[in-house]
Formats: sequence, C-alpha cells, structure tokens
Amino acid sequence: MLGSMMRKELLISDLIVHAGKYHADTEIVSRETTGELHTTDWADIAQSSRKLAAALGELGLATGDRVATLAWNNHRHLKIWFAVSGGGMVCHTLNPRLAPDQFIFICNDAADKAIFFDKTFMPLITGTKDHLTTIKHFIYMGPRDQDVAEALPEAIFFDELVETGDDAYEWPQFSEDTPSSLCYTSGTTGNPKGVLYNNRSTMIHTFAIALPDALSLSSQETILPVVPMFHANAWGIPYAAAMTGAKMVMPGPMLDGDSLLDLIDTQKVSLALGVPTIWMMLLAAAEKSGSKMETLKRNVIGGSAAAPSMIATFREVYGCDTIHAWGMTETSPLGTANRPKGKHDSLDDDAMALLRLGQGRPPFGIDIRIVDDKGQPLPHDGVAEGALQCRGHWIVDTYFGRDASALTSDGWFDTGDVSSIDADGFMVIRDRTKDIIKSGGEWISSVDLEGIAVSHPGVAMAAAIGAVHPKWDERPIIIAVKAEGADPDEAEILALFEGKVAKWQIPDKVVFTDAIPLSATGKMLKNKLRDQFGNILLGEQN
Ligand code: ADP
Repeated sequence: MLGSMMRKELLISDLIVHAGKYHADTEIVSRETTGELHTTDWADIAQSSRKLAAALGELGLATGDRVATLAWNNHRHLKIWFAVSGGGMVCHTLNPRLAPDQFIFICNDAADKAIFFDKTFMPLITGTKDHLTTIKHFIYMGPRDQDVAEALPEAIFFDELVETGDDAYEWPQFSEDTPSSLCYTSGTTGNPKGVLYNNRSTMIHTFAIALPDALSLSSQETILPVVPMFHANAWGIPYAAAMTGAKMVMPGPMLDGDSLLDLIDTQKVSLALGVPTIWMMLLAAAEKSGSKMETLKRNVIGGSAAAPSMIATFREVYGCDTIHAWGMTETSPLGTANRPKGKHDSLDDDAMALLRLGQGRPPFGIDIRIVDDKGQPLPHDGVAEGALQCRGHWIVDTYFGRDASALTSDGWFDTGDVSSIDADGFMVIRDRTKDIIKSGGEWISSVDLEGIAVSHPGVAMAAAIGAVHPKWDERPIIIAVKAEGADPDEAEILALFEGKVAKWQIPDKVVFTDAIPLSATGKMLKNKLRDQFGNILLGEQN
C-alpha cells in the first residue's frame, strides 16, 4: 500500500460542528421581527440546529426533501439552514418580495414539503396556502403565538419544535454530492429557474470566499450581511462565518439606512455586504447623523454595478475599503472580487482607484472568459468586450427539474453579461446583454452612464436606458431620482458627461421621476423603465 489520507465527505454540518466547538461563545446578534435585538452564540446555533434536524426527521422529512424558508436574516433562519442541509434535506430560500403568483409557482415547482416563515409573512402564507399543493408543515419562526394559532390552526411553533428534538441526534454522514439548498433566480429575465447547490459545491465555495484575495474573512470580523439569505444564499456569508468563527449581525426586517447605521455603530461591524441601493440609503443616513462608521473597515458591493462615486465616498469620507464583487445565483454566487495584486502596490492613487472600479478577478475554483457572437473566445486585453462565460466547482450545470444542461457545447455557463477581462483576470461588467444601449450599430454601456449621472450630489439614483430613436435605433436617456432636498436640472447633469464619454454616447435626455422600480433583489427594473419611457424620444410617453 502506498499510504492514503483520510476520506471525509465535505458536509455543511461540519461547518456548524466546528463553529459550535471552537467558536462557541462568539456572538450572533439578530433583529427580531418585533424590532428587538436578540443575542446568542455559535454554541446555541450548533445545538439548536442539531435538535431541529432531529425534530424535522420526526415530522417525516427525509433526505432530498425540500424545506422552504420565507424569512429575514436572523438566528432562527441560520438554525434552519444548518438543520436542513446538515440533515440531508434541501433548504429552499424563498424571496418574500415576489408577487404571490410567482411565490406559488416557485413553491409548487420545488415541491416544498414544509415551510418556515417569519411573522411578517403571515398574510402571504394565509393568503396563498390553499394553492401550496405540496406543503404539509407550516412552521412559524417564533415562540407559541395566539394570533398565529388562530389564523393558522395547523401552525407548528419553531421554539417548541426545537425543544422536541433529540439532543442525542448526530449529524448523518452522506455523500458530499447530496443536494443542500435551492435558490430561484428572480425571474427578471423570464420564468424563475431553480439552482440546486450541493454540499460539495457549497463547501468549496465557502473555502474560496473566505480567502484573503476574496472576502478575507476571519474570527476577527464582525460581519453584517445586509444581503438577504434568500438572495443567492446571502452570498455564502452564513457558511463562511461558521467556517471562520466570525461574529454575525443579522439585520432582520429593518433594512433602512438609520437601522443599519445603528447596528454598525453599536455592534462594531467591521464588514458589511449588500447591493448598491442599500448603500445609498446607508450613506444618506450617515451623512445626516454625522456618524463616521469608525469600525466599518470594508464593505462588499455586488448584485449591480457600484458607482465610482459611491466607492470613493466610502473610502474618502468613511475610511471604508470597498470590495466590488460580481456573481449570480447560478455561481453560488461569487464569481469575481476586486482585490489588487502585490504588483499594484506601486500604482498611484488615481490608477489604483481606477483598478478598484471593476468587478475584479476570479478566485481559484472559477474560470472566466469572454466570447464573440459566434462563441469564439476573445482576448483578455482589457479592451475586447464579449459575452461573459464561466465554469468551475460551484457553477450551475442543470437547472432544477430540467433535463437539458444549461451549458454551452464546450461546457461553459453563459452569464448573460457583457464584459472585458484584462491579462491579470480583472473583469469589468459593461452591461447585461439585454440592457446594453445600441446606438447606430455601436454599443453604449448603461453602467458607465449611470456611474456618471449619480456622481452628481443631487442625484440619488439613475438608470440609463435605450430609448427608441427613428435614426439611430436607440439613444441613451437617463431616468433620475433627485436626492432629498436637491433640485438638479437636466443641463447640469448632461454637462457631467462632457469629456467623460465620447460625444455620441452623451445621453439625449434626462427625465426626473419620483422612484425607480426595483426588483425583488433590489435591482433597477430597466424593462419597466423601457415600457414607461422607451418612446419618449418619439414624442410620446406611454
Ligand atoms: P437577478 O438579477 O435575476 O435577481 P442574480 O442576483 O443572480 O439574479 O443576478 C446576477 C446578475 O447581477 C449578474 O448576471 C449581473 O448582471 C448582475 N451583477 C451582479 N453583480 C454585479 C456587479 N458587481 N456589477 C454589475 N452587475 C452585477
């Protein structure tokens, strides 16, 4: 015999065993649906999730069964994650911001057998439950509650259920290929599709995102995942926090700027993660209150492009280093993270700031390329733009319930994004394929135009869309929301583009609106804006 190493499957339950054993007293602070703060620790999360897994088994749930959650980021949700995946079942995180018919479609498509829900979502549960054809168990995330028992007589109460769990239960051992969680894309690009992660893909992703050149997580950190656990698994943070023994602060339902600022300052948050719309609200709240968010050393911005002015404000005003990251539900989700290399130390401030604007480079475990419209690979020279494709240990192969692979014939996943990549692998998203503005046969990046528009202090949010044009097919226009108390005019905003983009890329018009519609994951819904303003250059507003 040549010798051998131990063979141990990569299982999500190992994460919580580790956190419970070696980071037992590290705090997990969460905002309850009532608004109060609740504090527990990894020891409790470990013990309660084990007992909950036992109790779910007693309810008759078995390996592979889908168990849904309709919940905020909080300690009970965390326990459910580890209980369900650790117990061999599939944790299906549902996005509560979906319209009821989409919600019903997704529950039935996944054939969920049980659902956990926070109090906030009682009306959605009682209003849809007759259509949820596969769900046998409705579990309310809290102690026994008289109102809930009356409105939903079959409700099981989470805190009581955990108590019934056998404390002698031990985590089952099974193949690392066993599915562990399920997340649907939000459906902004068609019917929602489920991505089924497994223990192995999740564990390898967890190792990768914790690395210094990715999100650099450790037991030194206090992490605030503002990104919901139903949005691409909160970007993998709950798993990685357990792996590294970080303290977690879970914001519950209160995602407004003032509440987040309060959590950052009182809990001494060092790292926070979320989509750009969240940071916009946080920055407005911080400016108003005068807080400098002293403890916040880093934040991760992803989900949509971070505007250059936002990254600069975090760095210059708050001393907070932004990691701009790109990913999608299909990529678990981390695809790239912007971390400069050693050789970039010598860059001057302007060159460094420029490098930090893009979405960064892939960590080990994921490979990226760009291709032209015939599928031919394009050079990684930082100039060529093409369809972004990826492959790796944590990338979707086949959507849930589908037969056909989601990959190209040579085994890559096409992301639907257009980007450039330089020789070091630094990737810049130019646009989503369907949002890029096509003017006279040339492409204009809506991301670039939006970044310039929001650099005006009087603009809170801006979307660039292609409006139909009789001569050029499309011309860019800006739809802008004014910042509170500000009153910028069209000419001032258009003047910002001079010298920053080619003359023919300067938008034809700025339209002010009260609010830009957002998707269930906080992204600007450009298809709605195109419906509303797409014909404005033809002299008509629908
Ligand atoms: P959906 O947007 O449908 O809810 P996802 O959350 O999976 O689903 O979105 C993935 C998409 O979000 C990517 O394909 C890309 O278009 C966009 N995206 C994610 N991160 C960034 C980023 N840092 N910059 C620009 N776009 C991003």
